[in-house]
Amino acid sequence: MRKPVYLDYHATTPVDPRVLEAMLPFFGERFGNAASRSHGFGWEAEKAVDLARRRVAELAGAAPREIVFTSGATESDNLAIKGVMEAYRSKGSHLVTMATEHRAVLDPVRRLQQSGTEASILAPGRDGLLDLDLLRAAIRPDTVLVSVMAANNEIGVIQPFREIGAICRETGVLFHCDAAQAFGKIAVDVNEDNIDLMSLSAHKMYGPKGVGALYVRRRNPRVLLPAQMDGGGHEFGMRSGTLNVPGIVGFGEACAICAREMEREADRVRALRDRLKARLESALDGTAVNGSMEHRLPGNLNMSFAGVDAEALLLSLPGVALSTGSACSSASVEPSHVLRALGIGEQSARSSVRFGLGRFNTEDEVDDAACQVIEAVRKLRALAPA
Ligand SMILES: *Cc1c(COP(=O)(O)O)cnc(C)c1O
Repeated sequence: MRKPVYLDYHATTPVDPRVLEAMLPFFGERFGNAASRSHGFGWEAEKAVDLARRRVAELAGAAPREIVFTSGATESDNLAIKGVMEAYRSKGSHLVTMATEHRAVLDPVRRLQQSGTEASILAPGRDGLLDLDLLRAAIRPDTVLVSVMAANNEIGVIQPFREIGAICRETGVLFHCDAAQAFGKIAVDVNEDNIDLMSLSAHKMYGPKGVGALYVRRRNPRVLLPAQMDGGGHEFGMRSGTLNVPGIVGFGEACAICAREMEREADRVRALRDRLKARLESALDGTAVNGSMEHRLPGNLNMSFAGVDAEALLLSLPGVALSTGSACSSASVEPSHVLRALGIGEQSARSSVRFGLGRFNTEDEVDDAACQVIEAVRKLRALAPA
């Protein structure tokens, strides 16, 4: 049997072979602990971590000392949100976020709400975008933090994060941005975009799983961030624990590759996505795209197929690796919180599929996947005519 076509790049990406090659020596002869100061094994590891830190920083427009390595974007989101709300308690306990955020943001917010934090959770428009007037109206004198993602992991919608950052700067509120999906796919610059804290994940950009970073601004303003994990004082005292040297090296290599290839890759992946969209739309009636098509990641297509249950569709497509977007709790049959927040209705939400395209997809794969999806949709509709 042929391998299925992988169209789930928002869930995770394969490790780029160049990234793997860069990592391998650090599992073998270069095994040192980057915190060992007394011998060459440690110095070698530290040097590799320093290079990776510069590479991550460079892609973000940040200074290397502003990059704190973590286990991934979930940890970075927790560290940023819980840390900032703790550090700025004398200013207030109010934060603003959106209903379409990743669970790694919404769950820490929910946890904080249990201990007195007030949260304004803004709904997006039908296109998935934040209305900036709504944001302005939500910011109060006791607001400490605004947390809005750069690009959504289900519908791929890119928020106006530069404008959001400018509003936060004007009003003296810190801006945290979960850029796990955007980083390495579209340009993000912490200074031009007025971002104070930014969560990153290596495995969403062709690096390894279990490693990521939090950007923490050091000047204009200097962000105060107490550690959530104590012990040893690694990572400028913000995140203790022996560094995952091979993972960090891979993350750095992944950033260097994106820095070189991001623009060309975006054009190529966008063309593939548009090809998939055109094939599906020309062969099938009753399709609709969820979220803004204009403000969207190049590799994302989130589409509903009227009259078709998305879970049933995925089950009848063994040759294509796809998802409904709600990777959260596989046991629950609830449609995704993101689609519900768009207000597209229960029926549309239940018939929506997320296509995530990326670096290693080919035209042939897209054509093959499109054929299989078209056939499966027709079959399911024939079984249960509307
Ligand atoms: C994948 C993802 C996360 C979680 O990242 P991990 O590194 O897997 O913990 C958080 N936010 C967004 C937007 C994501 O896409």
